[in-house]
Amino acid sequence: MDDLRKFVRYFGPYKKHLIFGTLCVLASVAIGLLVPVLVGRAVDDLRANLTWEKLARYALLILGVSFVSGFFLFLQRLVLIGMSRHVEYDLRRDFYAHLQRQPLSFFQSHRIGDLMARATNDLSAARQLAGPAIMYSLQTLFVILIVLPLMLRISVRLTLLLFVTMPLVSLTVKYLGQQIHLRFEKIQDFFAQISARAQENFTGVRVVRAYAQEEAEIEAFNRLNQQYAERNLSLVRISAAMRPLLQLLIGLGFVLIIWYGGTLAARGEITVGEFTEFNLYLARLIWPLIAMGYVVNLYQRGTASLKRINAIFAVRPSIADAIHPQADPPISGQIEFRRLTFGYHEHAPAVLRGIDLTIEAGRTVAFVGRTGSGKSTLLNLIPRILDPPPGTVFIDGVDVRERPLSQIRASIGYAPQEPFLFSETLAENIAFGVEGASREEIEWAAEVAGLMDDVRAFPAGFETVVGERGITLSGGQKQRVTLARAIIRRPRILILDDALSSVDSYTEEKILARLREVMRQRTSIIVSHRISTVRDADVIYVLDDGEIIESGTHEELLARGGEYAALYERQLLEEELATS
Ligand code: ATP
Ligand code: MG
Repeated sequence: MDDLRKFVRYFGPYKKHLIFGTLCVLASVAIGLLVPVLVGRAVDDLRANLTWEKLARYALLILGVSFVSGFFLFLQRLVLIGMSRHVEYDLRRDFYAHLQRQPLSFFQSHRIGDLMARATNDLSAARQLAGPAIMYSLQTLFVILIVLPLMLRISVRLTLLLFVTMPLVSLTVKYLGQQIHLRFEKIQDFFAQISARAQENFTGVRVVRAYAQEEAEIEAFNRLNQQYAERNLSLVRISAAMRPLLQLLIGLGFVLIIWYGGTLAARGEITVGEFTEFNLYLARLIWPLIAMGYVVNLYQRGTASLKRINAIFAVRPSIADAIHPQADPPISGQIEFRRLTFGYHEHAPAVLRGIDLTIEAGRTVAFVGRTGSGKSTLLNLIPRILDPPPGTVFIDGVDVRERPLSQIRASIGYAPQEPFLFSETLAENIAFGVEGASREEIEWAAEVAGLMDDVRAFPAGFETVVGERGITLSGGQKQRVTLARAIIRRPRILILDDALSSVDSYTEEKILARLREVMRQRTSIIVSHRISTVRDADVIYVLDDGEIIESGTHEELLARGGEYAALYERQLLEEELATS
C-alpha cells in the first residue's frame, strides 16, 4: 500500500490529464451506448412503417453518434496513455538519478542485470498500472453503470441471467492471463540468461579464440536455445487455448439471450427492437468484461513491480553529502591520511592499517608494493569512490566526508587501474565529464598523454568510435585515453593507478616528462610496479600488506637497503637480462 501511495504522488503534476481523461472515457462510453438504443428504436419503428426517409435518418444518426463516441475514444487514449508515459518518464528519471548517486559498493552488492530488469520490466509494469489499468477500469465501470439500468428497463430476469454467467469471461481472462504471464516471464528470464551468456562470450572473444573454444561454445549455446524454444511452445499452447475459450463463453451469452429473450419476444413481453437492443448491449459488455480480468493482472503485476522499484529507492546513497558540507574554498591539493585503517566489510580483515602520512600540495608522491598490498584501495579513498571512516582522510585539512562530493571530484583527475571506455568517439571519451571541451583542449590532453601519434594513425582521428569497452584499442591506447581524460580537467590532484603499465618504458618516460611539466604546482599520486616510473617522485612509499613499511626518496630508499632496494635490484637484473 505504501508503494502505491508513493506511486500516486507521481500523478500530482498530471491531475488535469486524469480529470479530462476520465471525462473522455465517460463521454465515449455514454455516447457509444446510444447506438444500441437507437438501433432498438429503429427496428421497432421501421417494423411498424418502413420509409426510405426514416431509414436514412436512423442511419445518419447512428453514424454520427458512432463518430462522436469514436472521437472521445481517441481523446481518452491520447490523454490517459499519454499521462502514463509522462509518469513513466518521471519515474525512470528519478530511478536513474538515484542509481547514479550510489557508491561503488552498491553496484558490487546488486547485480547489474537485476538493476536493468527493474529499470525496464518493472518500470514498464508500473506504467501499465498508470495507463491502461486506469483507463480500462474507468471504461468497465462506466459501461456497467450505464448499461445495467438500460438492460433492467427491458427485462430484469434476462439481465440477471447475463450478469450471473458473463463474469466467467473476466475469470477466464484473469486466470489464463496470469498463466500466460508467468510463462512469459520465465521465458524472459531465460532469454536474459541466453543474452548474458552470448554477451560474455563476445566480450571475452579473445579468450574464447585463444583457447579454441568456439565449437564448445556453439554447442552450449544451442542447448540453451533449444530450451528457449521449448518454453515458448508451452506458452503457445496456453495462449492458443484462450481465444477459443472466450469465444465459447461469449457464444453462450448470446445463446442465453436468444433462448430466453427470444421466448420473451415471442410472447410479446418485449418488442423485437428491445430484443435486438439487448444483443447489442451484450456485445458492448464483452470487452469491458475481458478488460476487467486483464486489469486485475495488471494491478497485481504493477504493485509487485512497484515494490521492487521502491526497494531500490529505499537504499539511501551511503556516500551522501554531509548535511552541512563545508563551503568550498578552492582546493589547493594537500592530502593527509590520519591513522587510517580500512576494511571492505565490517567483519573482514583490514586491507589498510595505520596509514599516517601527509602529501603537501604540489608534490609528487608514489606508492609501490606487491600486488594486493592495498594501493588501489588507498587511492580510491581520496575521491571517495570508497568511503573512508570519519577523521582519517583530509584534503587541505578538511575531512573528505565534510566536503561536497562535487567539489572533491571536480578537483581530482583519476586514471583507474582498469581503463574503461564508452563506445563513443575518442574525443568524447577524452572529454568525458568536461562540459564543452574545445578541440584544442582535447588535442592538448591527448598530446600530454602521448596519444597523438596513435590518433593520427586512425582514419577517423578523434572521431574514431571505439568498440564496446574499447575493444578496438590496444591496452596501452586505452590506458592513455583514460590518462588524457584525467588531465583534460586540469585537476589540482592527479591520481594515476598503474596507469601506464601497458605502455613500454620508453613511451612511458616521454609521457612522464610531459606530465611533470603539466603537473607542476599540482599534486600527483602515482602507483606503479616499475621503479623507472616512480624514481623521480618527491617521496616514495612502500606498502606491504596494508602497511607502510618504508618511505623516502629513491636515493634514500636505495641507501636503506630494504624492500625497495631489493625490488630495484630485481628490476635492474631483469633489464640486463632482457638487453643482453
Ligand atoms: P595491484 O597491484 O594488484 O593493483 P593493489 O595494491 O592495488 O594490488 P588492492 O586492489 O588495493 O591492491 O587490494 C587490496 C586488498 O583488498 C586485496 O586483498 C583485495 O583482495 C582486497 N579487495 C580489493 N577490492 C575489494 C573489494 N571490492 N571487496 C573486497 N575486497 C577487496
Ligand atoms: Mg591496484
